[in-house]
Amino acid sequence: MDKKVYEYEKEIQPKSAPHVIEWAVKEFGAENIAFATSLGAEDQVITDMLLKISRDVEIFTLDTGRLPQETYDTIEATRKYFKTDIQMLYPDNKELEKMVTEKGPDLFYESIENRKLCCNIRKVKPLKKKLKNFKVWICGLRKKQVVTRINLNKIEWDHKFKLIKINPVIYWSESDVWDYIHKNSIPYNQLHDQGYTSIGCAPCSRSIKPGEDFRAGRWWWEQPEQKECGLHWKAEKLTGNSE
Ligand code: SF4
Repeated sequence: MDKKVYEYEKEIQPKSAPHVIEWAVKEFGAENIAFATSLGAEDQVITDMLLKISRDVEIFTLDTGRLPQETYDTIEATRKYFKTDIQMLYPDNKELEKMVTEKGPDLFYESIENRKLCCNIRKVKPLKKKLKNFKVWICGLRKKQVVTRINLNKIEWDHKFKLIKINPVIYWSESDVWDYIHKNSIPYNQLHDQGYTSIGCAPCSRSIKPGEDFRAGRWWWEQPEQKECGLHWKAEKLTGNSE
């Protein structure tokens, strides 16, 4: 599979983001592709591009139960603006109940282990269950976002979830993203206007200060190389650890 993905990578390398999506729909079939959106700026760009190409690719998001109200507002605005459904994924109720009962609602502040447990139950497990039904998933990751994403490619084999992962805007800059959003008048999360560059769950996201790293507002109490929730981790070369 890695060899095949390497060939795909050569084929799509010169293609623009919408052309990569168009290529993927033709190559794999819309019914085999899922787009995971966090409703962040990059994902709003991809939603716009994708829906102009196909309305048959499933768009889903992980509702962890701890999202900021502004993200729910963005889900509503996006549904209405694009006239599209967004599939909502939820954690397993029993696992969630056990975790919160035993460790408390704000366990993630206590240790990296607790934080990873919470991300695993609220995000990774529901995602893993979902992706079993697909051959390809599309993500809005950019290399320039953070140190843990420098090894990502436009297309790659996702060893964790065992399917192909396509990152159409991987080489985009932040200003490319915002130029696209403003030019196309796409709805976006209002927290971006309050200094939030990367938006996840409410208790684990904050705005950043001038000069801070793009992802400084996520799990700000942890070291930069530890800041992934387990969905996009590919930092083996940095840490020797894939979790
Ligand atoms: S981002 Fe925070 S609240 Fe959300 S799943 Fe991870 S640890 Fe839990």
